[in-house]
Amino acid sequence: MKWLSKSKLLAYRQCPKRLWLEIHRQDLRVDSAATKASFQIGHTVGEIARELYNSEKCGTVLDPMRDGFDVALEQTQTLLKSAKPIFEATFTSGGALAMADVMLPIRQGRRRAWRMVEVKSSTKIKDYHLDDIAIQSYIVRAAGIPLASIALAHLDNQWIYPGGDDYAGLLRETDLTEQATSRNEEVEAWIAAAQKIARKRKEPDLCTGRHCSEPYACGFIDYCGSQEPQAEYPVSWLPDIRTKALKEHIEQNDLADMRDVPDELLNDQQRRVKKHTLSGKPYFDRKGAQAALKPHGLPAYFLDFETISLPVPIWKGTRPFQKIPFQFSVHRLSRTGTLTDKAFLDLSGKDPSKKLVEALLDACGKRGPIFVYNASFEKGCIKELADRFPRHGRALMALHERIVDLLPIVQAHYYHPDQEGSWSIKSVLPTIAPELSYANLYGVRDGGMAMIAYFEAIQFKTTATRKKKIERELLDYCGLDTLAMVRLWRTLAE
Ligand code: SF4
Repeated sequence: MKWLSKSKLLAYRQCPKRLWLEIHRQDLRVDSAATKASFQIGHTVGEIARELYNSEKCGTVLDPMRDGFDVALEQTQTLLKSAKPIFEATFTSGGALAMADVMLPIRQGRRRAWRMVEVKSSTKIKDYHLDDIAIQSYIVRAAGIPLASIALAHLDNQWIYPGGDDYAGLLRETDLTEQATSRNEEVEAWIAAAQKIARKRKEPDLCTGRHCSEPYACGFIDYCGSQEPQAEYPVSWLPDIRTKALKEHIEQNDLADMRDVPDELLNDQQRRVKKHTLSGKPYFDRKGAQAALKPHGLPAYFLDFETISLPVPIWKGTRPFQKIPFQFSVHRLSRTGTLTDKAFLDLSGKDPSKKLVEALLDACGKRGPIFVYNASFEKGCIKELADRFPRHGRALMALHERIVDLLPIVQAHYYHPDQEGSWSIKSVLPTIAPELSYANLYGVRDGGMAMIAYFEAIQFKTTATRKKKIERELLDYCGLDTLAMVRLWRTLAE
């Protein structure tokens, strides 16, 4: 019988077809930039955990991926006799295989037992972690290891990094022994069912749905989607499907096309999207848009930040996953209609925040609206900067007061069928200024890619040539975001 790893069993829990494809057609999997970033994140947190749980420096780190599972299984058996911490200890039982992030020896009376800790890069315990830990503890215990307790360690997002590589306190542990050990029968049933799926010659016949993104984004979505008949006007183009009645109607009737959704269940915005998507005619309430923009005269500023959220903070005074702006672009439209721009980007690898604050205050002047697209993001960044730099607190909060959100104005007064139900600036821009399309950018084309590119650029090993290239890509991308807002503003206001 072939072993199924814990990650394969979790893939089965998400969707049996996913498990089958992971085993038989991995070539069809396409991981998004966000998924790749989350693998990288998990790796960084794992490294820190190994430091924190190995304070006496006597533990051993196994590498089953490099050395192979047979070697890791053998090494684990030897190390279990030594009463020292083991990282990535590998166990197998009943056709399943698991690697434990942390195994710590303890004494229970006269016998030796182990404390197992699973490390997660999230900031709280999620439902699927309970399945994860139930599988893990089942395999380890079935392999004959006396487990005294099972805990999950996750990031504490209130913890502030004091600097100096001191990460004590970054992880918060929760004991889950009871939850993990009370589900033996369930886990046995999962393993048996997953083994059965793995042995099938044909892939299971399953449709795409909400399970394709929960709890993880599935990398087979393009493949599975391409196997299904495509609706001419997909129901997913209806924005913000939140009401219970609408959700239930779509799910219970298995609706794929928005033409089949009754208007009575839609709100004004959804009805407008349906009407103009089906007619193929754009909607533009020019007078309404002009009235909404009238109170905000010139000069006007257009601002966009790029930020990075690091699970393991590297700059003193910052928290796990805190959004740290490392770049901004500002376009300024003067009373006479002259357009100028300023940009800030710090690739030094040092905390960019202080320099960014000074450059931002200089770029945004003293008066005039500051237009952003989806204000909660920029407002949140400015508020955090004000809290971190009290000396500039008042000036930053004055910027905060001047912020005007373009997104709700566009949503209320403009829709083009090519937007396919989305008002992201990347969807709207090609409908008003096709020559400015994001598709024309080379390299960085969205916020996730900007974050990954920035992280690469600040690494010591990144060459000067590569860094220069990343710098150009980031400047082009962020500059296009604010130029796009200027074009939008002009379309609406003039
Ligand atoms: S995309 Fe959806 S249906 Fe296809 S394998 Fe993944 S989870 Fe299953």
